[in-house]
Amino acid sequence: MGILSKTYICPEMECPNTVEGKEGQVCPECGTEYKKMASIQAKNLMVFKQDQINAKSKNMLFKKDMFDGELEFKITNDMDKLAKDEADKDWKIWEDISSFEPEAQTTALGLKTIIEQNKIIIRQNELIYRQLKKFNEKSS
Ligand SMILES: [Zn+2]
Repeated sequence: MGILSKTYICPEMECPNTVEGKEGQVCPECGTEYKKMASIQAKNLMVFKQDQINAKSKNMLFKKDMFDGELEFKITNDMDKLAKDEADKDWKIWEDISSFEPEAQTTALGLKTIIEQNKIIIRQNELIYRQLKKFNEKSS
């Protein structure tokens, strides 16, 4: 892509598509016709779009283009954080549950139930992941 060359890309600022297209083609994301642009202008637009995507997905739990290793790293970090929180003295609040007002007791027990259910889901997901890995190894 030389400085003076032309590129066809989706001109829609709100559209996340940054893939180059051809003359007369329509963007598969938003339906806008690809526009011929000077390469430098196209590059600026692509950078703008990428920034928008990054800003939007900053707080997401995962992104489509995230590597498996990145996800595993995040899961390990979260589990480590959870284990530390649970071991933390503030978490000993569960031991004092019987001293709570009845309404607070119900809320606290509800929270505890959700936390325990999440532990089950986390371990089940790990089992599913391991099974899928084994399945993939067999079939390849
Ligand atoms: Zn588009």
